[in-house]
Amino acid sequence: MTNAVEQLHAVRTKIANAEREARREPGAVTLVAVSKTFAAEDIRPVIEAGQRVFGENRVQEAQSKWPALREAFADLELHLIGPLQSNKAREAVALFDVFETVDREKIAAELSREMTRQGRTPRLYVQVNIGSEPQKAGIEPREAVAFVKRCRDAHGLAIEGLMCIPPADENPGPHFALLEKLAREAGVAKLSMGMSGDYETAIAFGATSVRVGSAIFGSR
Ligand SMILES: *Cc1c(COP(=O)(O)O)cnc(C)c1O
Repeated sequence: MTNAVEQLHAVRTKIANAEREARREPGAVTLVAVSKTFAAEDIRPVIEAGQRVFGENRVQEAQSKWPALREAFADLELHLIGPLQSNKAREAVALFDVFETVDREKIAAELSREMTRQGRTPRLYVQVNIGSEPQKAGIEPREAVAFVKRCRDAHGLAIEGLMCIPPADENPGPHFALLEKLAREAGVAKLSMGMSGDYETAIAFGATSVRVGSAIFGSR
C-alpha cells in the first residue's frame, strides 16, 4: 500500500469518528481529496483504493491530468476549489462537476452562459471570504445571502452550498459557525469547509464536505 492510501484510510477513519461525535449520520460528510500539485501516478492508487471525489485549484493543471484518469475510471467527481478566470470558463465547465468558488457577478454570468452552451449542469457553491481578508477570494459575508439570491434570480444558477477558507492563524470554529448561519439564511444545504488542519472541527460545525490535501498526499 502506498503512503497516500494509508493516509486516505486514516483520514476516512477520523471523518467517521468526527461524524459519530457530532451525532451526524454515518457518511454525512463527503471527502474531497485535494490532489493539486500531485501527478496522475500519485493520484491513481488513491482512486484504486476507492476514493472518487477530488479537488483541483487550477483549470490548466486539472486538464493535464484528469481527462486520462476519467477515461480509466468512469465515476469520478472533480471539484474546482481555486479561483476561476472568466476566460477559462469554457474549459472548466467541460471538465469539472462541481464549482466551489463562485464569488462574483462576472463569473456567475460566464458560468451560466457556458452551462447553457454546453448543456452541462455542474453543481455550484458560493465562496465566502469568511474572515474578510483582503488577499483572499470570496464574497464578503454581509453580501453572501444577497449574492446567492442574485445567482438564482439574475443568472438562473441553482446554488447548492457555501464554501470558505478561514484565516490561517485564527481559531476556525467561529468562522465555520458563521458560514453555517449564512447558509441557513441563504436557504442552501451544503457546507464545504475544513482542510487537513481543521476538518474534524468543521464536521462538528456541520460541514457536509471537507477538502483534504496534505493529510492524504503529503506536503506540497
Ligand atoms: C489546497 C487547498 C485545500 C487542501 O489543503 P490541505 O491543507 O493540504 O488539506 C483545501 N481547500 C482549498 C481551497 C485549497 O486550495
